[in-house]
Amino acid sequence: MNSDEWINCIEPHSMLVECNARRNKRKVRHYFVACCLKARKRLPSSMALELISECGLYADGVLSAKRLKEIRVKYENELDFFNKRTSNRITASLGDRYTTALLCKRLFTNDPPAYNFSTEIAWLFPEPQRKSVFKWQSNVVREIFPNPFQSVPVFRKGRDVIAIAEGIYSSSQFDTMPILADALEDAGCNNEHILTHCRNPHAVHVRGCWVVDLVLGKS
Ligand SMILES: [Zn+2]
Repeated sequence: MNSDEWINCIEPHSMLVECNARRNKRKVRHYFVACCLKARKRLPSSMALELISECGLYADGVLSAKRLKEIRVKYENELDFFNKRTSNRITASLGDRYTTALLCKRLFTNDPPAYNFSTEIAWLFPEPQRKSVFKWQSNVVREIFPNPFQSVPVFRKGRDVIAIAEGIYSSSQFDTMPILADALEDAGCNNEHILTHCRNPHAVHVRGCWVVDLVLGKS
C-alpha cells in the first residue's frame, strides 16, 4: 500500500494492518466504539448503548477497575453457559445473549482483536449493505489513524488551540472542528492535511480523531 492507496482504500482490515493498529489499544477501542455506534440498530437488544460508551471510557483509562471486572465476569459467565450447553437449539433471545457476550469480550478484553472486528460488525448487516459498511469503517480508520505514509506534522500548540481541542474531545462536539482549524492557522499551523481534515464538511469525526489527539498529545 502507498499513500494514495491508503487515501482511497475501502478495506478497513488492510488499513488496520498497514498502520499496525494493534500497537495502539486506545485507538483500536475508539474504533470499536465507532463501529458499534454505526451498527447500533443491528446490535443485539441486550447490547446496551451504555456498554459501548463504557468501552470508550475504558479506551481513555477512566472506566473503574470494579466496573471492568463486573463486565468481564458477566460475559465470561455467559460464554461459559453457552460452552456447557448440550442442546444446539438457539432461540432468538439466546442468540441475542450469545452475540452480546461475544461483542463484550471483543470490547473489554485486555488485548483487543484489532483486525477482525470490522468484519464481525459488517456481518451484522445483510450482504448487499456490507460493502458500504466497510467503506464507512475505512473512513473511520482514516479518521483515527494518521496516514502511515506521511510524516506526523509538527506545529506550535498555543493555549487557545489546546482549550478548543479539549472542549471538542470532552463533549464529542465535532461540529466545531473548523474553529479548531482557524485557531491552528492563527497559531501558525499551515499543514494542509490537518487543516483539510478539520474543515472537510463531509469528514467523519469520532473520539480518537488523529488531529484532536495530535493537538492534545494523545497517542
Ligand atoms: Zn477527525
